[in-house]
Amino acid sequence: MATTSERTAPRLRTREDLLHLIRANDDVTRAELVELTGMSRSTVNQSVGRLIADGRITESEALPQGRGSGSGRPAAGLKAVADGAPVAGIDFGHNHVHVAVADALGKPIADERTTLDVDLRATDAIDVAVGILTRIRAEQGIGHISSLVAGIPGPLDARTGLVRSPTILSSWVGLAPADELRRRVEDVGHVHVENDAVLGAYGELKAGAGRYRRAFLYVKASHGIGAGLVIDGVPFKGANGLAGEIGHTHLPGHTEMCRCGNRGCLESVVSVQALLAQLAHTHPGTDPAEIGLTTFTDGITQRLLDEAGRELGRVLASLCNLLNPDALIIGGELGATGSGFLDGVEATVARHAQPATAAALEIMPAALGVRAEVTGALQMAASMVVR
Ligand SMILES: [Zn+2]
Repeated sequence: MATTSERTAPRLRTREDLLHLIRANDDVTRAELVELTGMSRSTVNQSVGRLIADGRITESEALPQGRGSGSGRPAAGLKAVADGAPVAGIDFGHNHVHVAVADALGKPIADERTTLDVDLRATDAIDVAVGILTRIRAEQGIGHISSLVAGIPGPLDARTGLVRSPTILSSWVGLAPADELRRRVEDVGHVHVENDAVLGAYGELKAGAGRYRRAFLYVKASHGIGAGLVIDGVPFKGANGLAGEIGHTHLPGHTEMCRCGNRGCLESVVSVQALLAQLAHTHPGTDPAEIGLTTFTDGITQRLLDEAGRELGRVLASLCNLLNPDALIIGGELGATGSGFLDGVEATVARHAQPATAAALEIMPAALGVRAEVTGALQMAASMVVR
């Protein structure tokens, strides 16, 4: 015989699932929820009624429809109620820190991004981030923060909360970033730390190109390369939270030295700094300090971006064969460079993935661009708010 918790759990999950959808889609209608979820109309109506009664969502007055608008009932939009304290998100990149605060639903209130060598000075980077957060809170008059989620660009052991890698993020090794943040941030509820690519995937899942998708791969192509996997609509993190570390996949025929100590790793060949070095080399006479990824639009630049995309695509093709995702969402600064890089990815995925797998796949830039990680941090923080 089922216990009480077993009987009530599915219904609760239905309500929470609907609440997530309503949070992500302002003015979604009940009919759209039926379509999006595949739930029956009566299930949706019952759950929506309960959410309204609990004060967690509101339903707008239905506007009378004009002549010729069909015989269906007028559609009323649903909105989630931001009924908790604000949340905060921090995205530590290899050379930047992005700090943001949002309302209880994860809608951004204010944010700031600054350049910083995060790899070499772990506690300094944490101090800078906390300083920015403190200033934003003062400017916005924000007191209690219900939850804070931070992303770091390296392997984080989900069981111990410790950074796990002798060479990547060397100054972070053995550090428990969540404890460091908890010590420094005043008046905060939950503190949680994730791998940054997982947060990028979560941001795209909740508010970007991954919405309504069941299985996709998010790739943060930046100063390092990391992947966030979404399987069955939720992030997949592996046994210890270390899934998606594709940046150190060996590329046959390459001998470039990688910061991990091996040679020929994907991210020693494809990264922002590798591209910038190639652009400086092929454009003599331009001050290297002035060169960005989108400074040039000539044929050489397009070829370099295309070649970098092709190298990444080779690794992603194998992952596509394994996982059969419906989308590859390419984020980070390289994903934001546009079609040259993505065309390269597409060319080798089409060449090396199984034809049926490649045919079922869409390849696209991250809808949130380089904001995917911080958006994911805010969305995850909002999802942790206990109401
Ligand atoms: Zn490596």
